[in-house]
Amino acid sequence: MNKSASFPQTIEELRAGGKAAMARALAAIEHSPDDDRVITLLDQAWRHPHGHVLGLTGPPGVGKSTLISALIANWRKAGKTVGVIAVDPSSRKTGGALLGDRTRLVTDPEDEGIFIRSMAARSRLGGLAGLTAPAMTLMRAVYDIVLVETVGVGQSETDVASVADTVVFCIQPGSGDSLQFMKAGIMEIPHIMVVTKADTGAKAERAKADVSGALGLSDAGHDGWQVPVLKLSADSGEGLAELVTAVDNHAVWLRETGELDRSRREQGQSWLKDMVREKYGTEGLKKAGDRLVLEADQSPFRKGKELFRLL
Ligand code: GDP
Repeated sequence: MNKSASFPQTIEELRAGGKAAMARALAAIEHSPDDDRVITLLDQAWRHPHGHVLGLTGPPGVGKSTLISALIANWRKAGKTVGVIAVDPSSRKTGGALLGDRTRLVTDPEDEGIFIRSMAARSRLGGLAGLTAPAMTLMRAVYDIVLVETVGVGQSETDVASVADTVVFCIQPGSGDSLQFMKAGIMEIPHIMVVTKADTGAKAERAKADVSGALGLSDAGHDGWQVPVLKLSADSGEGLAELVTAVDNHAVWLRETGELDRSRREQGQSWLKDMVREKYGTEGLKKAGDRLVLEADQSPFRKGKELFRLL
């Protein structure tokens, strides 16, 4: 069997083919990333985005899986389709493959409107450019919401911003996280802050006050977007609707300010740099020079392939 011929060749085929088509397309970007048909598919997906991309990050145990399951249920009830990429930090160093549906999310496997994939943070540099960015691009062309989950272990906070439209940080009550993220200087990244496990009462209230205070002190800014600090319990459902609303509001804000296009173009630019750096090192970046600049409406995947031919 000609394996490479069996993946969807156009965005229409990808959209019409359900989860099986998405799985084959993801396999193709993993196994034949330089195949011209793969680049063409990615190129189309890049030009025809459909959904909103939510990045969700936080330390292990903060309640991400529980929250994501609750969010998925909420979105599915509202008739929205959802794609999830769970980035597996443990495979960061070893590199590796798509891991299949190895997440702890509880969903209905029969539901065609929800697609979940775990994925190694493969890039040598720790970036998500290797596999997550193209996978996200495909899913974004198909699903109403794409959720990228990363475990907050330092670098991953900045990583998630390189693929997401809206970044949500989860904070554990009573953990001192609020102070930690201040120190790390990653305050500018999140668009929404969420204190989880609100059912823990005073601890959650205090964490929320700490985070609000910390945000007030910094000049973390997104050119007019006020970062909301929310408190929710995925267990009881308290505060979940407020998070969904905050995400929607941010999506509207991004669109109305033109920030969405600007930020996605910037993401493409950073993936392109990562791809070149990964393949040809900083020497390659130097050699590529001005040719590294992505022109408007140009896909980083096509441009990357062009550059690889030259370098
Ligand atoms: P992750 O590692 O960030 O994905 O966190 P999990 O979703 O696996 O949750 C870690 C632990 O926190 C589990 O024992 C959950 O049952 C618990 N947990 C998650 N959400 C809540 C919540 O809203 N309230 C309380 N009290 N516990 C929660």
